[in-house]
Amino acid sequence: MAYRDILKNGIRTFDDLEKWLIGQKARVDRRLEQVIAKYPMRVNTYYLSLIEKVNDGIWKQAIPDVEELEHYMDLTEDPLDEEGDIPLGGPRTIIHRYPDRVLLFVSIECAMYCRFCTRKRKVGDDLKTPSKEDIMRGIEYIASHEDIRDVLISGGDPLLIANKRLDEILGALREIKHLDLIRIGTRVPCVWPQKIVEDQEFLEVLKKHIPRTLKDPQLFINTHFNHPNEITEQSYQAVKLLRQLGIPIGNQTVLLKGVNDDTDVMRDLVHGLGRMGIKPYYLYYADFVEGTGHFRTEINKGKEICRDLCGATTGFLRPVYVVDGQGGRGKVPVDLGYSEGISEDKRGGIITSPIGLGKVYVNDPIEKVEGKPLRHNPNRK
Ligand code: SF4
Repeated sequence: MAYRDILKNGIRTFDDLEKWLIGQKARVDRRLEQVIAKYPMRVNTYYLSLIEKVNDGIWKQAIPDVEELEHYMDLTEDPLDEEGDIPLGGPRTIIHRYPDRVLLFVSIECAMYCRFCTRKRKVGDDLKTPSKEDIMRGIEYIASHEDIRDVLISGGDPLLIANKRLDEILGALREIKHLDLIRIGTRVPCVWPQKIVEDQEFLEVLKKHIPRTLKDPQLFINTHFNHPNEITEQSYQAVKLLRQLGIPIGNQTVLLKGVNDDTDVMRDLVHGLGRMGIKPYYLYYADFVEGTGHFRTEINKGKEICRDLCGATTGFLRPVYVVDGQGGRGKVPVDLGYSEGISEDKRGGIITSPIGLGKVYVNDPIEKVEGKPLRHNPNRK
């Protein structure tokens, strides 16, 4: 069970951290003890092995920083108001924001506690562990709402729960006829791939729930890589096994200062994801989470990076840059500024070539005319 030792031998306490920092010849700040008391720490030995130098993009995601104690304007514990989207009087394991889909909260545990996490307020807090009854009530809620067609199983990390429990959850969800999609949101392929490669029982559970006909809900995995150094032979082997089961995998990335707020880093990341057969689908502007202010960039930084990627790499590998609106307003794609004047007045618009070939006017369809149609183009003299 070597994969279990990777978690067991990771760093969890201030003493572990102090010893490890001394080994790295890095400064030990006593205030880190407060940081860990406030926001749990777990860095497993695999993720530690990816660190190349002090404060690199891997270090920053995993190693606690005294900056987490700083307060910044607008940052709150629950900026997306997830608690407000728990149905009134309903199960605490359901977050129901959008009409046709819900999040099912099944675990507070993760293979690593990311320092920038949106759910910093609850991950790693044993008191918030959802019970089996809470989870089953969540599934009953989904079964009784026919407009829900998509469930994201999340946490924490669903791959940290026992295989038997995951099997029960997937089995119960598969019975719900109105579901099209069951998504598992997990960072395990990135931060603890050995779990997937070595835990045969886990793979058997997934295999059991692969759709057999169009009537069965499709099983997807949403994973989370943020830096090219997370793309390793081990993570590839894990992803390969999931793909061999026929599970489509998408990736979301969070834009993080000092980690990936740079076009070259982002290009290497999306190219690495392409080599693994993973579709990068979202680049998130970092949420306004208390304790993560030092990770936040200007909104424009993500726009700049996505503009740089536009026309410069495979379209399929370009994530959509989104801001998750505070207060649960939903994900909003940021306009990259390549089009102007497209509106409901039906007069077309101007698009700008992402590969430096200037602008062109694109007309809306116009009525049929006899002979060669002349299109309206205000740019033509
Ligand atoms: S794995 Fe996901 S839920 Fe867990 S700490 Fe990291 S970002 Fe948060």
